[in-house]
Amino acid sequence: MTSNLAELSIVDAAKGLRAKEFTVRELWDACAGNAKARNPELNAYLELFDADEGAIAAAQKRIDTEGARAPMLCGIPLAMKDNILIDGHIASAASKMLENYRATYDATITKKLKDAGALFVGRTNMDEFAMGSSTEHSAFGKVLNPIDPTRVPGGSSGGSAAAAAAHLALGALGTDTGGSIRQPAAHTGLVGLKPTYGAVSRSGLIALGSSLDQAGPLAKTVADAKILFDAIRGSDPLDATTITDATYTPRPVGEKLTIGVPFHLLESGLDADVRARFDETLKTLENEGHTITEVTLPTSAYALPVYYVIMPAEASTNLARYDGMRYGHAARGKTLLDDYIQSRTEGFGEEPTRRILLGTFVLSSGYIDAYYRKADAARRVLTEEYDAAFKQVDVIAFPTTPSPAFKFGEKSAPVSMYLEDIFTVTANLTGMPALSVPMGTVERDGVTLPTGIHFTAPKGADDVLFKIGALVTGETL
Ligand code: GLN
Repeated sequence: MTSNLAELSIVDAAKGLRAKEFTVRELWDACAGNAKARNPELNAYLELFDADEGAIAAAQKRIDTEGARAPMLCGIPLAMKDNILIDGHIASAASKMLENYRATYDATITKKLKDAGALFVGRTNMDEFAMGSSTEHSAFGKVLNPIDPTRVPGGSSGGSAAAAAAHLALGALGTDTGGSIRQPAAHTGLVGLKPTYGAVSRSGLIALGSSLDQAGPLAKTVADAKILFDAIRGSDPLDATTITDATYTPRPVGEKLTIGVPFHLLESGLDADVRARFDETLKTLENEGHTITEVTLPTSAYALPVYYVIMPAEASTNLARYDGMRYGHAARGKTLLDDYIQSRTEGFGEEPTRRILLGTFVLSSGYIDAYYRKADAARRVLTEEYDAAFKQVDVIAFPTTPSPAFKFGEKSAPVSMYLEDIFTVTANLTGMPALSVPMGTVERDGVTLPTGIHFTAPKGADDVLFKIGALVTGETL
């Protein structure tokens, strides 16, 4: 019985705990046991935590005394990406730079999850500093996709995705700067949400691109993703960019939804069978009475180059703090300048180094007008185009990725890896919420692989995404 408990959804586990079908301890043992058995192969976790006996007992007591009133996450084992601080634990962002950095406080979302009674199985592997789309670029080894171990789980939240998909936790938290929750969710058959910018506090996250980053859930079902989102959302005095509940106005939508599709963006670069799954999913929604209509988003063709100017600019600024003086990897040379250079050269891997160079270049005087300011202006135009489209439609749909999970090494040229994000980056550039849900499977080399459909909604309309997501998965929320 115990190994099956880890396969439950959060909703079903919460029900089972309340019905006394099993205990918090048994649920923990099931997840931690799976993690211990399978992690040596998958490398989904960088560290498995010891059972927190106090937290397990407290969660059990709360369920026993509060019953249905206890938070849904009470006693639920979760996986946390290694760039989300948990007081007393190492948070390395899968970089040598922070290999020995131990968090001295909880991220706001960690605190909220603890307050809800959630338990943490461990910290999950990721692309270094969340830069990447495959989780091949961790300083501590790649993560295998549990569905096909010859393929990547996607990234940068690949460890969180692999942990949830392989039942090494009931759900996971990731971060998404350009697609790092949604793309790995699509590649592992999960639901992944990038919330509205500012819906979730960034306090205690290791920053990549501050105007783009949001933490969010990777979950087995839309209902589970909603539970996790509801637990972590909310304004936070520690993050001035969080939106207050007052400005967070849910958008009213009717029983039947209008779904906009930018068909002009899907004409090339998309695998034929992924396109077929997408068309079938839209057809099913149409048959259920929802309306599919074409929208044009001309500037979206430039979203990827815009993202790869803005994100490195912000990354280069955020990574400037790792200088070998304050915290993180510290090397000592003959002069102070040597200290900086050696610490940073030894601490950062190839991709962070590339982005620091790129970001410094696009921000440098003489080039800032040609690159950064142009990209920033294009970002505004992108937002206006989406806002205009949302006057006619409730959500905008396209496939999450052009292809299913790819083989290790297949996208070793940086630009071919960057193309993985072609559909996902716009939601980060515009601050709009976006959700990936499974939309059926395709075959590669005799293996059945999942694919994802991606929905974007107007700012603050995260709830509409759960509604459309549940329509696709057939869940009732
Ligand atoms: N793959 C994108 C990048 O490399 C997105 C990363 C992310 O969302 N953290 O920047």
